[in-house]
Amino acid sequence: MPDLKKYLPVPFVDLNIQYESIKDEMETALKSVFTEMTFIGGRFVQQFEQDFAKAYGVKHVISCGNGTDSLYIIMKMLGIGPGDEVITVANSWISSSETITQTGARVVFADVHPEYYSINETQLKQKLTSRTKAVVAVHLHGQVCEMDFIQSFCKTHSLYLIEDCAQAHFSEYRGTKAGLFGIASSFSFYPGKNLGAYGDAGCMMTNDDDLATKLRMYARHGALKKHEHQIEGVNSRMDSLQAAILSVKLHHINKWTNQRMAHAALYSRLLSEVKEIVLPRVRPHSKHTFHLYVIRCKDRQELMRSLKEKGIETSIHYPTALPNLKAYQYLNHTPADFPVASQLQNEILSLPMFPELTEEQIKYVAKSIRQFYS
Ligand SMILES: *Cc1c(COP(=O)(O)O)cnc(C)c1O
Repeated sequence: MPDLKKYLPVPFVDLNIQYESIKDEMETALKSVFTEMTFIGGRFVQQFEQDFAKAYGVKHVISCGNGTDSLYIIMKMLGIGPGDEVITVANSWISSSETITQTGARVVFADVHPEYYSINETQLKQKLTSRTKAVVAVHLHGQVCEMDFIQSFCKTHSLYLIEDCAQAHFSEYRGTKAGLFGIASSFSFYPGKNLGAYGDAGCMMTNDDDLATKLRMYARHGALKKHEHQIEGVNSRMDSLQAAILSVKLHHINKWTNQRMAHAALYSRLLSEVKEIVLPRVRPHSKHTFHLYVIRCKDRQELMRSLKEKGIETSIHYPTALPNLKAYQYLNHTPADFPVASQLQNEILSLPMFPELTEEQIKYVAKSIRQFYS
């Protein structure tokens, strides 16, 4: 069956081209999983955990079912629960906040930084109470949060710093990779992420030996050895097929990340004259890996429609800031409590972004945007 998306001039993401480029390697890897018939656990999962740990220079990588599980398991094993508060950012995917609630703790939202779209670190102080236990820093779009400030804030107030790196594989801040600043960090390998499996997968990362043991145990029904359940846990594991796929893709991630960054630079160069849009800014001293290239724009609906007519797919991450969702009505916030996030939700637009985008496609998108406003 032909993939209809292939015939769009510029799809938002195209996973097919990448697959074609690594098909032989991928098929060899998958064949060995089928030959060995080890689908859960086993050497492929171990291998990926080792490979990913090595790529990050971290002691422990614990694979799990998906990025949402990894956030929940980290918080649960840090002892976060009823009576506690955890601060996170007003614009993210709901995993960042719903997992706080899953532990029994209360979500406390901080507004978004007006220029960098990650958590506004200067709000942490006013969100702090005697119940605050942790901060979940989300490196949204691939842009690392202001880690100097956040790290020292967490240290001063004895808070756990947890990093949600679902959109920030191999992003850096002052030469350190995102994911290595806090007590533990969470990664998603959802297919569309910068490092994506062909199904659900995720992992947790930490340099803390005790925590690593707990994370692994909790994700495996509370048992490190089969049938020896020390606690009740959950079932959250990466399957061998996904692990084998990720190990193959890990060989190529540097190239793909560089391609994303080059595409972002080209977009920014070609769009720099358009007064009606605001281009993404990269935080100083950091490496933004552009999971998403997000602009702010005037007349968003009309622009999206006009681009769609030209075969250009765009998307919004996210159309409703978390505190404005029905799911958080119980917190009794109004949009005015989060002025930046509430304004951004109406202006942000994610342009097509994936490593295999061509220069022609980027030029076509930029030209179409310029035409729309002229
Ligand atoms: C994708 C994502 C997650 C969740 O990952 P899943 O693997 O889909 O569970 C969490 N946080 C952020 C910021 C994400 O983008």
